[in-house]
Amino acid sequence: MSKTNQKLSAVTRVTQALRYLDPETGAIIPPIQSSATYARDENYDIRKPYYYKRDGNETTSHAEAIIADLEEATDTLLFSSGMSAATAVIDHLEENAHVVVPRAMYHGVLHQFQAYAKKNRLRVSYYEAGNLVELSNSIQDDTLLVWVETPNNPDWAVTDISKAAEIAHAHGAKLLTDCTGTPPCATRALNFGADISMHSATKYLNGHSDVTAGALSVRDTGGYWEDIALTRKLQGTVLQSFDAFLLIRGMRTLFLRVERATENALRISNHFNEHPLIEEVLYPGLVGHTGHKIQKYQTGGLYGGMMSMIVKGTEKTAIDVTRFCNVFYPATSLGGVESLIEHRATVSGPDFPVHPNLLRLSIGIEDADDLINDLEQALERANS
Ligand SMILES: *Cc1c(COP(=O)(O)O)cnc(C)c1O
Repeated sequence: MSKTNQKLSAVTRVTQALRYLDPETGAIIPPIQSSATYARDENYDIRKPYYYKRDGNETTSHAEAIIADLEEATDTLLFSSGMSAATAVIDHLEENAHVVVPRAMYHGVLHQFQAYAKKNRLRVSYYEAGNLVELSNSIQDDTLLVWVETPNNPDWAVTDISKAAEIAHAHGAKLLTDCTGTPPCATRALNFGADISMHSATKYLNGHSDVTAGALSVRDTGGYWEDIALTRKLQGTVLQSFDAFLLIRGMRTLFLRVERATENALRISNHFNEHPLIEEVLYPGLVGHTGHKIQKYQTGGLYGGMMSMIVKGTEKTAIDVTRFCNVFYPATSLGGVESLIEHRATVSGPDFPVHPNLLRLSIGIEDADDLINDLEQALERANS
């Protein structure tokens, strides 16, 4: 077999943006298509596949092709945010449909389900994230959708995706997974039986905290998928081309970034596990974490950089730690190259079930010793 016929690995394909090469100029970087409209052809027919930018454009399609390749999906749609991707799925459910969702999860998505339930648009049952027995007990004969976030905010509980898929499918429901915390270089949810794989591409996929984007990927592109695509078109929530360009650039280093974030997070979690000022470290990469074994299998050991720490002392002690950090930014979001720290109860609001002393850390790709020293001095200052 000649070298060019060899099946290349996903690392190579994504790093080269699917081997982009402009046949006319030889340019190796995909251009930004900024045109909002496309002229009809000489017969006044629409040129396929683009017609108007609210429908999509070449740059966004290119980013979608890279994510579809990573996910081993048939099709991927990119939205202007993770929330608009999630909302398109929630929105396409018929009036009064029954859905099963985690009691605690990414607060924006949870808020959306609660808002739809309040308006009697949906019937929502809740389960404890990672608890398959409770998940199974929450399903009804007419359940249309099971929502799984794994690893799950903010304690990083892990759900066995294959088992969740089995349970959902036995009841004729679809399984959506939000694996934003472990992007598809680590977890390919469709391979475990998820019907829709959702990611906030704002996070690891882009990785540089300069774009908001959301991705939905599927293998079955039946009627409901066309519905979701139509929602994106009519609501105008397609990812714009400049953001798609940045996303493509970010994804070229996805594997490297997630490997380094995992390395750093493993060092930091081991350092603070059993630390005198820390009650508990929550990180699926730790052998003692309840989801460790499943997560090892579902990520191939690429646990990512998301962890939480429950600080000893009062809620004020925890907030003070975020205030006293000099290397970690006291900011929300996750999955960027720079490390972030946040006091979760402040961010998610009073109705959200979270330990008052929980700090959520997004570990970036900086020097691990700098990150450890920063947390050490902040903890010491908060306790003095
Ligand atoms: C950030 C996030 C979202 C929402 O994505 P946005 O791009 O911020 O709209 C959804 N789920 C998870 C797990 C997230 O971390």
